[in-house]
Amino acid sequence: METQIKKLNYETINMNIIEEAGKILKEGGLVAFPTETVYGLGGDALNPVSSEKIYAAKGRPSDNPLIVHIADKSHVYQIAKKISKEAEKLMEAFWPGPLTLIFPKTDLVPPKTTGGLDTVAVRMPRDPIAAAFIRAAGGFVSAPSANASGRPSTTTAEHVAEDLDGRIEMILDGGQAVIGLESTIVDVSQEKPVILRPGVITKAMMEAVIGPLETDQAVIAPDSGIKPKAPGMKYRHYAPKAELTIVEGETEAVIAAVNRLTEEAETKGKKVGIIATDETVNRYEKGLVQSLGARSHEDEISMHLFEALRSFDETDVDCIYSESFENAAIGQAIMNRLLKAAGYRVIEV
Ligand code: AMP
Ligand code: MG
Repeated sequence: METQIKKLNYETINMNIIEEAGKILKEGGLVAFPTETVYGLGGDALNPVSSEKIYAAKGRPSDNPLIVHIADKSHVYQIAKKISKEAEKLMEAFWPGPLTLIFPKTDLVPPKTTGGLDTVAVRMPRDPIAAAFIRAAGGFVSAPSANASGRPSTTTAEHVAEDLDGRIEMILDGGQAVIGLESTIVDVSQEKPVILRPGVITKAMMEAVIGPLETDQAVIAPDSGIKPKAPGMKYRHYAPKAELTIVEGETEAVIAAVNRLTEEAETKGKKVGIIATDETVNRYEKGLVQSLGARSHEDEISMHLFEALRSFDETDVDCIYSESFENAAIGQAIMNRLLKAAGYRVIEV
């Protein structure tokens, strides 16, 4: 099939295009669309055939459930039940926005959409193109990230086309996603809320609203062999083609170690990529160096991470060394993605 790419701008959203995209979903087709986190691959969440098509287009394992996106808060009650007081407070504080909540599902949601689980993940994006599209599509859009399974999530329409051209009906192009990391996921289906995936809505931000929160052990200690509660967290993710290694330690020690490792690799005839920051980018002597932005602006780092991982795939680097990003507010989310991309290869210096 031919994938149409439609450019939209945020000042005046072209509603004819939005209606056309909505119609595609109502007829069982797929449309990729921008959200504030990453691009989503949307299908009608209430149509099991659409969910099957999403898994096929991404090459995604069918036990990995999809997030259902809504544009009106009140719609959550149609697809979720037993909504706790804590969940109400989180929705009040962070919706619309980059927070996904897991609830027991109602019968309206087909098991194909939830990977056979009796819970459903729900998010209300704040991106106005996403909201308009969700409404035009009937109100319930299931959407995982719009990338081929295993590859870095997409933050531009061009990246979506790289992975999904010819496999979906349409891509809505809203430019670069401003956050660049997927939503925070919190399971509120049990008595105690648990963070299943870190994101830019941090633990501290949520604790300020509902008190102490737990984090799924699989997020904190990924090597522990503990089965993650978000099925998607167990799969290899975000991986660039070249072997990625994170170098952790004091800034000066990291710079010295990366320069030494790069030199060694180049001596063996290898090409090296380096993931740096504005503060350090000029300190690397060799290799193909990419800055994610200023370390003092975490939002720049998160916005450019997946883009950098993808861009190294277009070069023929054999290995990539990356600085580490653990010490800041959304650093846990950034490191969670980077560690997965690196297959947990970390060198401490
Ligand atoms: P993606 O949209 O590609 O970021 O993937 C959605 C993420 O949400 C995956 O990690 C899923 O495993 C997780 N998820 C979706 N639905 C549920 C659910 N009902 N329970 C736990 N995790 C879920
Ligand atoms: Mg994904």
